[in-house]
Amino acid sequence: MIETIFRNAVTGYLEKRLLLALLDFSRHQRAARGLIAIFLLNSANFEILFEKFTADEIIPVAAKYDKSMEYPWDIVKKAHQLGYVTAAIPEEYGGLGLDMVSTVLISEEIAYGCSGIGTALLANDLAMTPLILCANDDVKKRFLSRMCEEPLVAAYGVTEPGAGSDVAGIKTKCEKKGDEYIINGSKMWITNGGPANWYFVLARSDPDPKAPSGKAFTAFAVEGDTPGITRGKKEINMGQRCSDTRGITFEDVRVSAKNVVGAPGEGFKVAMKTFDKTRPLVAALATGLSFRCLDTATSYSLERKAFGTHIANFQGVSFILAEMAINAELARMMTYKSALEVDIGRPGSYYASIAKLFASDSVNAAATNCVQVFGGAGFNTEYPGEKLMRDAKIFQIYEGTSQIQRMVIARQLLARVKQNGYY
Ligand SMILES: Cc1cc2nc3c(=O)[nH]c(=O)nc-3n(C[C@H](O)[C@H](O)[C@H](O)COP(=O)(O)OP(=O)(O)OC[C@H]3O[C@@H](n4cnc5c(N)ncnc54)[C@H](O)[C@@H]3O)c2cc1C
Repeated sequence: MIETIFRNAVTGYLEKRLLLALLDFSRHQRAARGLIAIFLLNSANFEILFEKFTADEIIPVAAKYDKSMEYPWDIVKKAHQLGYVTAAIPEEYGGLGLDMVSTVLISEEIAYGCSGIGTALLANDLAMTPLILCANDDVKKRFLSRMCEEPLVAAYGVTEPGAGSDVAGIKTKCEKKGDEYIINGSKMWITNGGPANWYFVLARSDPDPKAPSGKAFTAFAVEGDTPGITRGKKEINMGQRCSDTRGITFEDVRVSAKNVVGAPGEGFKVAMKTFDKTRPLVAALATGLSFRCLDTATSYSLERKAFGTHIANFQGVSFILAEMAINAELARMMTYKSALEVDIGRPGSYYASIAKLFASDSVNAAATNCVQVFGGAGFNTEYPGEKLMRDAKIFQIYEGTSQIQRMVIARQLLARVKQNGYY
């Protein structure tokens, strides 16, 4: 029932246009963060659905999960029931088949509650997107449909100890033997690495170091319980501590050739294409966190007094808040634009990278400013600012660092202007 309402509420291009047009309509504090149009389209049900989920289920437990660093299974299960986890899976494989604008709205909302829980949930999208985009029907049926049937999670295994930004430098290799490939190598910093039911894995299939990247790698969907896979210990990270990050090793892991995602040799393209759809989602998480920093700092400035007045009355403080508001709104708009570009059939790295970069850099400024507005209390673990600041940092690192986003943007800009004379 909820899923039907959900689908009806947010699909369709005209509804998306309406949604974007209504974004500045803020009759309600939380709805104003981006879900107002969904509330308007299905007001009562959606108000209950989203407000209850983020406000009642995520916000109250976020600090607890940060301290315990435990994987948020109970939230993942509830999110699965609501259709969040499988929102992007096409309907024919059991998902909601939502488009990008819809999924970024959901992501922003979840990250407002806790971006660590947001990362744990959305790492699934990172693993599933290459299959949605490039896998054949059989792989989609076997790996995506099960995600809709029960609350399972998946992981995207590309980065290695020796290569992150330089994806073409990965050393994990695969060798074809009959109807199987044998995979050997080590992956590092894999989100959902511990609880994953299956992995998307990129491996080098052409040992010739001179082979072009576009032909030298093959991508696979790999069952998590395949003999030869070893999950490393959970890494203790600076922030987003309930999200599970691990190294995974592959030792003579035999994978059926039927599990190749895309064409053999074209794995690099598959892995890169994925980012055009997942970077807007990461931008949405960062945006949600920016709005959380803004609300947290603004509320505190209206409570805390110094020199006989609320600190909000000092221009020095209110201008910090104004700056945070401007950047959060701009990050939101750029995120929605990058999502809309995908929805109208113009996926590309340019807008996805601009959105990811801007939302990531500005959330780091927002989190630092939030701590600043709290003064000494901002530096203390009993107050909310320090967690928000620790959580913010990763956005400038994963799914391509801020330096790599600038490279992508500049490369595309230069190529377009060389060709057309303008962008
Ligand atoms: C918490 C967490 C979760 C992650 N989840 C996943 C996951 O689920 N799956 C996955 O595959 N990976 C994941 N990663 C890996 C992540 O994507 C990489 O860490 C990231 O791409 C950077 O790679 P690196 O760590 O090897 O840094 P490096 O590539 O070694 O970069 C080090 C520094 O050099 C800079 N640099 C590198 N090359 C250039 C260049 N050409 N120009 C300018 N500057 C450059 C970088 O910007 C960075 O500042 C995760 C990482 C973390 C920390």
